[in-house]
Amino acid sequence: GSDVGSQKDRVVTEEEWLQKWEKGNIGFHKEQRHPLLQKHLDVLLNGRSGLRIFFPLCGKAVEMKWLADMGHSVVGVEVSEQALQEFFAEHNLPYCEEPVPEISGAKKLQSTSGNISLYCCSIYDLSSSIVGKFDGVWDRGALVAVNPCDRQRYVSLMITLMEKNSSYLLVTVSYDPNKHKGPPFYVPESEIKSLFGNHCEIKCLQKVDDFSDIHRKWGLDYFLEVLYILKFGA
Ligand code: SAH
Repeated sequence: GSDVGSQKDRVVTEEEWLQKWEKGNIGFHKEQRHPLLQKHLDVLLNGRSGLRIFFPLCGKAVEMKWLADMGHSVVGVEVSEQALQEFFAEHNLPYCEEPVPEISGAKKLQSTSGNISLYCCSIYDLSSSIVGKFDGVWDRGALVAVNPCDRQRYVSLMITLMEKNSSYLLVTVSYDPNKHKGPPFYVPESEIKSLFGNHCEIKCLQKVDDFSDIHRKWGLDYFLEVLYILKFGA
């Protein structure tokens, strides 16, 4: 169940993430759009168009292009510049680069069409005064990739980035945390409730079996994806 003691002190450094990208150890990246986003997109959009949608810890998630093509404005943040360059290259999207005056060393890579802006820096360097607030969030491979000791800080920041009447689709994973050190880390439902609970309405939309060979190699015997919708009110 909820014994996550074995993971709570684990830390993956930014340097280690950069190395994963350099070595191509990016098993988390999916070439196809996430089926749970396709299925539940309507709860994220809620009938609205032209939304500002945030992708925390975005990697080169292909759904960014998909949502931008639908007319939404997409903002992402990622520490690996290689990931962001690969995103634009793999979608044949011209972009330009500029420094972010408020954050030393950070860059913004923006599609020439203007509707995809990707910040190359740590998410912890962002604030709503820099990136504004969002109508929607797609959090897949983000909360579950954050070091357990940083979870509260991550969630507190995300809450400050939510616009009134916004929706946050969150994908977590469920497996026996004594058998794999993560990431992705196991975040139980009770913790989702304690992290976000006072700020929004939380509903579990779906649990799907996602068990595959890689999970078998990790020594696991089950692996689920769990989708939540978090609704922030007026
Ligand atoms: N959400 C993406 C990527 C998941 S892997 C997807 O679904 O494919 C997690 C990503 O977060 C990695 O690309 C890693 O480089 C990035 N990352 C890790 N720590 C970060 C931080 N503090 N700020 C921004 N990006 C970070």
